[in-house]
Order: sequence, then C-alpha cells, then structure tokens
Amino acid sequence: MLETVLIYYDARMLGHDPTGWDTEHPEWSDAVKAMIAHQYPEASLETYAYPERPARLTAIVERLQAEPVDGQCWRVPALATHAQLERAHSAAHLEYIESLVGGSRWLAQDTTAVSPESVVAARLAAGAGIGAIEAITTGEGRHAFCIVRPPGHHASSDHARGFCLYNNIAVAAMHARAVLGYGRVMIWDWDMHHGDGTQDIFYDQPDVLVVDSHCEAPFYPGTGTLAETGTGGGLGYHLNVPFPRGSGNAALLDVFEQVVRPAARAFRPELILISAGFDCHYLDQTCVMDETGFAVLAQHMCALAHEVCDDRLVMMLEGGYNAQALSDSAHATIRALAGNTIPGINVLPEDPGRAAVAEVARFHADTIAALGQRPVASSEASGSPRG
Ligand SMILES: [Zn+2]
Repeated sequence: MLETVLIYYDARMLGHDPTGWDTEHPEWSDAVKAMIAHQYPEASLETYAYPERPARLTAIVERLQAEPVDGQCWRVPALATHAQLERAHSAAHLEYIESLVGGSRWLAQDTTAVSPESVVAARLAAGAGIGAIEAITTGEGRHAFCIVRPPGHHASSDHARGFCLYNNIAVAAMHARAVLGYGRVMIWDWDMHHGDGTQDIFYDQPDVLVVDSHCEAPFYPGTGTLAETGTGGGLGYHLNVPFPRGSGNAALLDVFEQVVRPAARAFRPELILISAGFDCHYLDQTCVMDETGFAVLAQHMCALAHEVCDDRLVMMLEGGYNAQALSDSAHATIRALAGNTIPGINVLPEDPGRAAVAEVARFHADTIAALGQRPVASSEASGSPRG
C-alpha cells in the first residue's frame, strides 16, 4: 500500500534571490571566484549567478506537478518563531539575521548573501521542519519531505555561512526534543558537504546522534574528519564519514549499511531526520551518485525508520545545484518515501568511496557499539512522543 508523503513547500522561499557580486567586499568576490574556478573549472565567471537560486526549488516542484507521486500531500509551512529559532541559535545571531530584513548584502566570503525577502524564506525553511515533525507526530503521515531554501546545515549557532542563515534541521530537532517529547533524535546528513553548522550545534549533546557523510576535507567546508566525534557529554554521538571525490552510489549505500543502520539500531532514535542534499549527484561534478542511489537510500531509510521509530522519517533539502539532478533526485526520493518499487541502482565497476567507507566503519565500530550501552533515562522510557 502506498504511503502518504507530506511535502512542505511555500513559494515565498523563491523570494530569497541574491544577485550580483559584492561591491563592498571585492576580496570576498575574488575568493568566491577562486573557489568556483577550483571546483568548476569550466564555469564562466562572466555569467556567474548565485548558485543557491530559486530555480532549485521550482525544478523539484514543477516535476512533482507534472508527474505527481501517488500519496504526495502538499503542506504550507508556518514561519519559525523567534522562540523556536532560539533553541539552535544565539540571541546575537537572531538579531543579526533579523537586521537584514529588506536589504541586500553579502554576509561571508563563502557565498552567503541575502536579498530583501531572504529572512522570510529562511524562517519558512526552518518552520517547514517543525511543521513536518508535528504532523508526523500527530499521525497525519509517517514520512515528510521539506522542499526548502535557503538550506541550513552550514549555519552554526552564531554564524551564517555556506548559503545557510538558520540551521533548519537543528531547529526542527530541537523542537522535537523540547516541545514534542522526543528523547532521542537521529540525523543523517548525506549532503556532499560536511554539515559543520549541525555539528557545531549538537557537538556536546548526547540526545541527538548525527551521522554526516561527505566529500572529505579539504573540500568545503574543510571539516568533518573522523576524529571529530563530539565533546563532553556528546562524545561519541557524532560520526563523520568522509569519502573521496568521485565516490558513487555503492559508497553511499555502504555508509547506510555499515554506519547509519548499525548506529540507529544501537542508539534507538524515536525520530529520524535527514539533511537531504543532492549535490553528490554526478551532474554536480564532484561525486558520481545519481537518483537511483538516493531512491534506494530513501527506501532503506523507510525500512529502518519502521524498525526503530514507528516510521517517523523527515527529510529536509540541503544542497544540490544542478536543476535536472535536483528534479530527478527529489522525485525519485519522494517516490521511494511513498513506498513505490525502486527500479534498481546504478553502480560503478569500481567505486573509490567503498574502501574509504569500510575504513571509516572500522574506525567507528567501538563508538557505534557504545551507543547501544547508553542507559535510557526513566523520563525517556516513560514518555513517548505526544501524538
Ligand atoms: Zn552541499
């Protein structure tokens, strides 16, 4: 039987539309140009446009309108409130972002800029995750996909960076913990870039387990090494899985089988969230995954969520900059979330990521085993999520 998939989207997120180079900080423009020249040597800097652009979302939405997935159910997110954002961000950061309403400017040399409508878009993006978790908690559906921008996983508690203003998935996870009664939340960030902001926010927390698979440093943002496993009470609750450029679907599937699934079985989350960036797609020119891989991963995550957390699974879009790749990948992922049969997965004859992932799994084996020895607090044992 097909599954309802709640799709969160609001066209006001298209209002986030920075254009042009920064005139106040020519050195930032130069840094961005150097980064683009390095990552995409064939790109034309003369015709450069902000890569995190409205067409990323319209490509996905128009595809879902042209080829609807049985079970897709559109929802409009509410704006995240100050109190909701404050759980993941400092007061100073919130004040700074609010001060940008109505203006246009660049915020950092790593390609982060705003236009007059950007802050509204960012509040909707953060609100989408909250709405999705509330809806699956009350049983309106079991799976949700949030088509949002700006993305969130590079935003730390007090910094906007890497296209991100608020950390959408962190705000959502914090809401689940603080308001909806979830004791343990697991996040898998499968975006190609390390989610340094998500790591920053949850690094000392044992109640949110983060697995982050990404293209290894020095690729942007240059963090996410194996040794970064958390601090203080959060030590052992952050598992980075770096892999080399050129990794394909088989490597990502290995991440699931060798790290994500055993970690989930040991940690026993009550809710699973995914930072679903699609920039590992081969059309984004660094790794060589494709929509067949994302569909199989989504299918496996549905099975895992069924096994460990009563099916509760929410995905939030992060990166992915090729419109065709976004359209194909999001559509295939949502089809899988709805329970459709997956046609099969494309794999390389030799995937350079597989050996790296196997080594990572060996490195994290003891840490993953220790997740299973964590005592469940009595308040967690007695308090099931409100629904
Ligand atoms: Zn990314």
